[in-house]
Amino acid sequence: MSEHTKQTSKHIECIIPGCGFEASAPTEEELLKKVAEHAGHDHGVTELSPELVSQVKAAIVTR
Ligand SMILES: [Zn+2]
Repeated sequence: MSEHTKQTSKHIECIIPGCGFEASAPTEEELLKKVAEHAGHDHGVTELSPELVSQVKAAIVTR
């Protein structure tokens, strides 16, 4: 472990091809909220199914 507390962040690009939406957040939980809002606004997805959530989680990059 480094002595410096390095703040990582979670980053994602929308899993819908051609969408281009990107988001980042300090935690996966917050990122999922942003993705859920985006999906509702732009893709008409009212509820993230467990399958969708696992696809989204697989697309998350930690920086
Ligand atoms: Zn999208």
